[in-house]
Amino acid sequence: MKKFAVLQLSGCAGCEMSLLEADDWTQNYTLAHLPLVISSHDIPDVEVLLISGGVRTDDDLYNLRRSVKKARQVVAVGTCAISGGVASLGDREDVRLLFAADENRRHVPRLLPKCHPIDTFVSVSFYLPGCPPSPHLFLVALAGKGDFASTKIVCTECGRKKVREIRPRELSGFRQGSAKSDVCLIKHGFLCLGSSTRNGCGAPCPRAGFPCVGCRGPSDVLMEKGKTAWLRSIRRTFETLTDIPAGEVDEGLRSPQLSLFLFQFSDYDGTARPMRPKEKMI
Ligand code: SF4
Ligand code: SF4
Repeated sequence: MKKFAVLQLSGCAGCEMSLLEADDWTQNYTLAHLPLVISSHDIPDVEVLLISGGVRTDDDLYNLRRSVKKARQVVAVGTCAISGGVASLGDREDVRLLFAADENRRHVPRLLPKCHPIDTFVSVSFYLPGCPPSPHLFLVALAGKGDFASTKIVCTECGRKKVREIRPRELSGFRQGSAKSDVCLIKHGFLCLGSSTRNGCGAPCPRAGFPCVGCRGPSDVLMEKGKTAWLRSIRRTFETLTDIPAGEVDEGLRSPQLSLFLFQFSDYDGTARPMRPKEKMI
């Protein structure tokens, strides 16, 4: 059986919970290391190393560099390891000041000036985006992607209809109100990003009535067009489907709730970091 391990850097352990939900791998893979459930002193040599969490502390960086030497393939798992997520929320000035002001924060790993995606320091074989990634996608990651492709958008997996007659004039807020089960959430005035987000997750959020916050990142087509294409695509969708003023949509996109995913910090922070190759994206 193929051996794999999980390295947890700074994150929330949501990716690990999702992996454990996908128990199908127990037939074909042996889990050699995952501190949440299997204690081992060190990561042994493995076929696949899944890495979750961002590089937030000097401890993270040490463990990352040391562990990748033990694996044939390295998979960056989840938003924190790839481009942002909860670990990067600490980059906000107000959060940094809060940490710096806490005098009781002793004997814990030293924080780096900012959080980094793991590919700032090591090479990555594949990226499994999501916050967390849906359980079934872990099997794709363990299999080395194979012929899996997510070339479409979340709308294709959602099933809600973009009813022509309904044109909202204002945003409904992030999570307020209720929605008819078969009508597109945008048509209810919700800021749903499914029309530009890569598919593969099965659209669990909009199917349950919650707007997609784009945790899987931009679609393949938008990745090819560069960094600004995602935002432009979202704006165009709202112009076409609603009468909501563009400024209101922009403001909503920059709200604290959505900036967590949409701007994905390291990818959309205005720096020159190149887009990741879509061939490596699951
Ligand atoms: S925009 Fe959102 S709610 Fe509408 S079809 Fe796409 S994923 Fe579903
Ligand atoms: S529907 Fe959107 S927010 Fe929900 S898991 Fe899929 S990509 Fe992420």
